[in-house]
Amino acid sequence: MIGNLFGFLSNDIGIDLGTANTLVFVRDRGIVLREPSVVARYKTSKKVCAVGADAKRMLGRTPGTIEALRPMKDGVIADFEISEAMLRYFIEKVDKRKLVPPRVVIAVPSGITAVEKRAVKDSAIRAGAREVLLLGEPMAASIGAGLPIEKEEANMIVDIGGGTTEVAIISISGVSYQRSIRVGGDELDEAIIAYMKRAYGLLIGERTSEEIKFKIGSAAPFGELSMDVRGRDATAGLPKTIHITSQEIREEALKEVVSQIVELVKNALDRCQPEHSADLIDRGIVLAGGGALIRGLDQVISDATGLPVIQADDPLCCVANGTGKFLNLLGTLSREQVDRLVTQ
Ligand code: ADP
Ligand code: MG
Repeated sequence: MIGNLFGFLSNDIGIDLGTANTLVFVRDRGIVLREPSVVARYKTSKKVCAVGADAKRMLGRTPGTIEALRPMKDGVIADFEISEAMLRYFIEKVDKRKLVPPRVVIAVPSGITAVEKRAVKDSAIRAGAREVLLLGEPMAASIGAGLPIEKEEANMIVDIGGGTTEVAIISISGVSYQRSIRVGGDELDEAIIAYMKRAYGLLIGERTSEEIKFKIGSAAPFGELSMDVRGRDATAGLPKTIHITSQEIREEALKEVVSQIVELVKNALDRCQPEHSADLIDRGIVLAGGGALIRGLDQVISDATGLPVIQADDPLCCVANGTGKFLNLLGTLSREQVDRLVTQ
């Protein structure tokens, strides 16, 4: 009853603290904010000068006095202070204060340590939360994707973010297997940068390589495409344009990273409980996260495992939607059920 009253009086908030993007869900309103997980600060004083989209614009082109950092880049908290600054900025931006401070559910990468979890919780409290609950990212993604997590039958979720890929097997509202690697969509971009330099002596930046990935990147053959790429000639130092095909990008640049993601999934299948293996033959594998949008990844994983692979609806919002659904469920769950779902 008191919980319900609090819910009525406060804006409960769900946050997807991603390596590439932070999304904020406000109860009864849905996703209200989506900004890059980037913080810019002055090099000497370490004072934060911009967060989110404003800070991302500074990445790669900061004046000498400012540095732009990604606090969650590898799925761990690189710097507590800038993570806190980011969390505070996002919470304050959406929390149009009602009578009671918000309850905040934060989805965190499953690889973070107990100390890092404590730091995230403390940061959110300092930013004005009344209570903080942490959800493991795969659990949040599973809830967001609408998987029947409370059933005995196992489900497998693969969340491919910017800096990490997380795989988990979930049944009876608990995680029975999980692993993550520090490889995600960013590594695909880096592989394209390396390939353009190796094959053509062409230097390109992160923005261009991500654009190549969006436009013609793929994990499996499809109706092939091509495009012109502009960059700087590594030896002459002058601007140069090169024509590339989706086939060469797939086979020469992306293949290695894609196979690391496939290996992660195969390992999970190899290590999970036999009963769960059996369940997955029917239930298949669900892909979430922005990296799931690369063409043909579902097909490659399906070919490698022999299992059906489904892309979650709106993969970029899956985790944030999961935190939102969890907030709505909170009133109906017992303390034990909540403890099982959250990560301590
Ligand atoms: P995180 O949860 O780690 O913040 P996201 O789930 O937001 O990551 O995904 C970000 C990654 O998804 C980036 O590497 C981005 O380039 C990639 N991405 C987003 N849209 C697409 C797309 N249409 N095709 C391929 N990759 C995409
Ligand atoms: Mg994510």
